[in-house]
Amino acid sequence: MREETAALSGLLPEELLSHLHLEKKYRAKQIFKWIADGARAFEAMTNLSREERERFGATERIFSTTVAQTLRDPDGTVKLQIALNDGNAVETVLLTDREGRKTACVSCQVGCPMGCAFCQTGHIGFARNLTAGEIVEQFFHLEDAVGRLDNIVFMGMGEPMLNLAAIKKTIEILCHVDGRALSRRRITISTSGIVEGIRRLADEGPDVRLAVSLTTANEALRRKLMPVTEKNPMGNLRAAIAYFNEKTGKRVTLEAALMGGVNTGDAYAKEIAEFARGLNVHVNLIPWNPVSTLPFETPSNAETKRFFSALERFGLNVTLRTRRGEKIGGACGQLGKSAARTADEDDDY
Ligand code: SAH
Ligand code: SF4
Repeated sequence: MREETAALSGLLPEELLSHLHLEKKYRAKQIFKWIADGARAFEAMTNLSREERERFGATERIFSTTVAQTLRDPDGTVKLQIALNDGNAVETVLLTDREGRKTACVSCQVGCPMGCAFCQTGHIGFARNLTAGEIVEQFFHLEDAVGRLDNIVFMGMGEPMLNLAAIKKTIEILCHVDGRALSRRRITISTSGIVEGIRRLADEGPDVRLAVSLTTANEALRRKLMPVTEKNPMGNLRAAIAYFNEKTGKRVTLEAALMGGVNTGDAYAKEIAEFARGLNVHVNLIPWNPVSTLPFETPSNAETKRFFSALERFGLNVTLRTRRGEKIGGACGQLGKSAARTADEDDDY
C-alpha cells in the first residue's frame, strides 16, 4: 500500500523543494506552476525528466481530494461535492454574477461548530478543520470544471476565524506570483463575529476583504440566532469592526440573512443603523434560503423591500443578494446535506 504523504497542492515552492528533495529551485517552481495551471498528473509536466515523472508518480499525490459529484443549477450556479481522503465530504459552490464574474465559495471546515439557528451547516455538527491543500483543491477543482475564476469567498461550510492558519496558507499559495497569482483584492473572509479573529486579521493579515454575518444588531435576538454572541457581545464586535476599518482602511460588509417575521421589523432596521453609525460598512441582505428541517421562512418580496428601504432611509449603503443555486442546495446556508460523518464536538471560541 502507498504510504500517506502530504498532497503537493498544499505546499509552497520552497516546501516542494525540500519535500521532493529537489536540487534545483527552478524545478520546484515549475511543479508549483504546473499544478496552478491544471496539471493533475506528473505525466503532464513535460519539462520534468521521464525519470522524475515516474519517480514522483510512484510516491507522490498532487491532490488528496476528488470530486464526488457536480451539480448544475439552470441559473448558472455549480456545486461540487468533494470527497476528502478520510471519508468526510465538503461542498464548494461557483457563483456567477450578472456581469459574468465567477466567484468560488469555498469551505474551510467539515461542518461548523458555531451552531447558528438558521444555517444547515450549523446543524450537521463539526468534524474537523480542513488543511490548506484541501481548501486550495476546492478552488482548482472548480477551475477544472468551469474555467478561470475571478474571486474567492470563504463563505462555504465552517467558520474561517477558527481555521485562520490554513486560510492564510491557502491565500499564500493562490496569490503566489509563481503560481495562480490571484489578487488579494479578490478574496473575502466571512465570519460569524469572532472578535479576536477580526482583530488578528487586522493586525497580521492576510490583507483581504472582511464580511461579518451580523444578521441582526439586536443583542437578545442575536444571542438566540447566533450563539457566538454570548462570548462576543455586540459592543466588542462593533469595536473590532471599527479597529479593522481603521487599521486596514477597508470597508467591511455586514451580511444579514433575513428570516420572515424574525429580524425584518422597522425597529431592527433602526438598530442596524445605530450599530453601523461611524463604521465604514455596507449592508448585504440575504433573504433566507430554505432548509426544510429548520423553522424559518423566506421573507416575502414586500417584506424584504421594506427592510431594504428602511435601512436606506437611515443613510446606509445596502445591497440585496440575488437568490441563486437553490435547486441544487447550493445557496448560502444550505451546504452540508451531503457531508458525511460529521461529529459534534465542543469548541472553545
Ligand atoms: N461561517 C461564516 C461563513 C459561511 S456562512 C459566517 O457565518 O460568516 C455564509 C453566510 O450565509 C453568512 O452570512 C450566514 O449568515 C448566511 N446564511 C446561513 N444560513 C443561511 C440561510 N439559510 N439563508 C441565507 N443565508 C444564510
Ligand atoms: Fe457556521 Fe456560518 Fe453557518 Fe453560522 S452561518 S453555523 S458560522 S457556517
